[in-house]
Amino acid sequence: MQERYNPFTGKRIVAGIDDPVPAAAALGLEPPRFCEHCGRRMIVQVSPEGWWAKCSRHGVLDSKTLDHR
Ligand SMILES: [Zn+2]
Repeated sequence: MQERYNPFTGKRIVAGIDDPVPAAAALGLEPPRFCEHCGRRMIVQVSPEGWWAKCSRHGVLDSKTLDHR
């Protein structure tokens, strides 16, 4: 089973239990602070075009990547 973590709170996501996401975060305005794969605190950098966040183990996540949904 794959573990998932809330990118804003760093808490492990448990199936069946809702984990609230801050309103600004849900709109994509707030960068995630924790890696959703391992729950590590990421290095977050905010730029005029958006933001990126880096997990030392899982690499970089940026706001442009998330826009492609
Ligand atoms: Zn990670």
